[in-house]
Amino acid sequence: MELRCPACTSTLGTARRGRLSVGSPFQECSKCRTQVSRPSTNEWALLGSGEKTYWLCDRIAPFLLLGLAPALAYWALVIRDGTGDTRVLIALLSGGPLLLLFFPLSGALHAIRRSRARMADPMYRARLIEFGRRGLTRTAAATRKAD
Ligand SMILES: [Zn+2]
Repeated sequence: MELRCPACTSTLGTARRGRLSVGSPFQECSKCRTQVSRPSTNEWALLGSGEKTYWLCDRIAPFLLLGLAPALAYWALVIRDGTGDTRVLIALLSGGPLLLLFFPLSGALHAIRRSRARMADPMYRARLIEFGRRGLTRTAAATRKAD
């Protein structure tokens, strides 16, 4: 989905529709400085606990399934024949997901850190509140609550 400035119709970039992401809820148009709302995007501190959980699960779930694949394959190919070692299965069950969790978790922590860094900037917070006043009252209220 293309993100366009409603004031001067210049293209600001692309935005993912539907999928919740952690980031600035607005983007400033480089031409006319209009604050353009980015769909399904908000700062970590402004997300509700349900949204935070959903966002984390949404990132982790595919990796978790991938991490279970070696254990499932081992169970299907070896254990069912009666020749496998249960300890190997347990190692695969615990090790696979843990190893693969590292990637989405480090990415998530990175996004949260960047979000916190933005929120620590008073200039950015002022712009965020200004953006909230223009329509998204929820953002403004949440910003005041975070103070
Ligand atoms: Zn513009």
